[in-house]
Amino acid sequence: MNRVIGEYIGTKGGPLLIIFGAMHGNEPAGVKAIDLALKMLEVEPIKNPDFQYHGTMLGLIGNLSAYKKGERFINKDLNRCWIKDDIDKIKSKEILSFEEEEIKEVLSIVKKAIVRHIPSEVIFLDLHTTSSDGGIFSIVGDDHASLNIAKQIHAPVVLGMLEGLRGTTMHYFTEKNLNYKTAALTFESGQHEDPLSVNRAIAAIITCMRTIEAVKPTDVENQHDDILKKYSESLPQVARRLYNHSIKPSDEFKMNEGYQNFQKVSKAESLAMDKEGEIKSKHDGMILMPLYQKKGDDGFFIIKEEAYEN
Ligand SMILES: [Zn+2]
Repeated sequence: MNRVIGEYIGTKGGPLLIIFGAMHGNEPAGVKAIDLALKMLEVEPIKNPDFQYHGTMLGLIGNLSAYKKGERFINKDLNRCWIKDDIDKIKSKEILSFEEEEIKEVLSIVKKAIVRHIPSEVIFLDLHTTSSDGGIFSIVGDDHASLNIAKQIHAPVVLGMLEGLRGTTMHYFTEKNLNYKTAALTFESGQHEDPLSVNRAIAAIITCMRTIEAVKPTDVENQHDDILKKYSESLPQVARRLYNHSIKPSDEFKMNEGYQNFQKVSKAESLAMDKEGEIKSKHDGMILMPLYQKKGDDGFFIIKEEAYEN
């Protein structure tokens, strides 16, 4: 098994779109979506002789060793390891953890791709799925470039998540760290095992390719976009994180049964249990990413709808 799922090199110059699947090894939907999107690009010139791709799309498996085992991670959650100071130290380390080895390999591929293609900009799309149902949304930093791409995907955009998290791909893949024009966003396409999570991830990929003008709006069929439109009809277009409940294994955290993403919760509502007792919501809002799997650093997030500005 190779970390590089595939690469599509356009006939014209343009952006380098790097798409990660399985940054968490137990989330195969993104890998499948990247593979299928690459196949769609391969057949597009046959259906559409005028088709021209601008730039390059590169699909990568994030945590290859965890993906092979179907585990979220081996030593440490890779999507909490993208911290510049820690990564700078990897170079001088003799013994690397599994996830440090993953970072070293991913960065080597990313850097070589930038040197090879000299793109107009680099866009990172990190595809994830959640353990609970209904988790379909984009996460971005507060930079406009990423937010503009995310707004085009027919799913809620959740702001303020980066302040509540540490070491995600969006924290690391920035203009400052790469010394290159960069945008980065994460798309959560639904529940881990839901087959539609693959379709929704494909829709996000194609929307992203259109927004960054790698393809024309009329190129590459985006039939799966209707699934996203239908799903997001009743959801906020933009929401902001109010709170996240960080956990450690020793907390013995257990989410109460039956919570779904974007479900309304009230202040003082009992949401979960740990060894100290009941955990109650500190806010009125909506729940996001309630944890129903063993491994994870956050028990749940509380978000609130925010006014949508075009
Ligand atoms: Zn994930």
